Amino acid sequence: MSLKDKVVIIMGASSGIGEATANLLASEGAKLTIAARRLSRLQEIKDNNASATILPVEADVTDKDQVQNVIDKTVAEYGKIDVLFNNAGIMPVNNLDQVARDEWDNMLDINVKGVLNGIASALPIMKKQKSGHVITTSSVLGYEVLPGYATYSGTKYAVRAIMEGLRQEEHANNIKTTVIAPGTVKTELFNSINNQEIKKGLEEATSQPGSEMSAMQPEEIAQAVAFVIDTPANMSVNEMVIRPTGQE
Ligand code: NDP
Repeated sequence: MSLKDKVVIIMGASSGIGEATANLLASEGAKLTIAARRLSRLQEIKDNNASATILPVEADVTDKDQVQNVIDKTVAEYGKIDVLFNNAGIMPVNNLDQVARDEWDNMLDINVKGVLNGIASALPIMKKQKSGHVITTSSVLGYEVLPGYATYSGTKYAVRAIMEGLRQEEHANNIKTTVIAPGTVKTELFNSINNQEIKKGLEEATSQPGSEMSAMQPEEIAQAVAFVIDTPANMSVNEMVIRPTGQE
């Protein structure tokens, strides 16, 4: 891999897919900024990769000034941005008739506006550089809707639309775009589910080895992220859908 010295910002790096990606890219010699709200978890990742170049920055992606601070600190530290990985997300799924307005607000703010905040802050730098790569985590639920998942799916369809718009507007400026769309991955994501019935059903379905919903590991998705970053300059993987082999 030629990831050495690539400057990569990972939003939502404190656990799951973001953490696994940070560990893999760090081992390949990339220069990382890792951001999330739980600074102690980011610090642990840095400590676990002691010989790597990692800058942990506490940030809530719903706060545009905190996101701008992540971008500014990265440029001050490394002088450029090669990749922005918009990966922060939550999944408090629930049926619409539960009218869980707080969950709707949080999901829209984190999963959608958080992505826009990242793009808003990184794009001017990438346009000036005439190079860059924005990667955003959608989901297989960005392609299909299931009962209970309407709002979450809505956020994941939305980021695909935003990324396609970004591709159309910025490909001529040599800016790559990638949507990573995983099926079930074993992470802390289910912790954000308040509907205990849905949560239990999902945990049971995804924890049985060999079942069609058997979850993938975050390290496997990290490999996909490393692959799309490591493509030649003239090649852009715009969408990558990754399912557990047995998942419908
Ligand atoms: P985790 O819960 O393990 O990771 C979510 C990450 O997002 C954490 O680092 C969390 O950090 C961060 N995050 C959440 N809210 C905010 C916020 N307001 N500001 C900054 N960071 C935030 O789950 P995953 O690794 O699974 O999730 C990563 C992405 O993958 C999400 O976008 C999710 O929707 C998507 N995805 C996951 C799938 C799965 O099955 N696990 C399947 C398909 C897509 P902190 O709490 O410290 O802020």
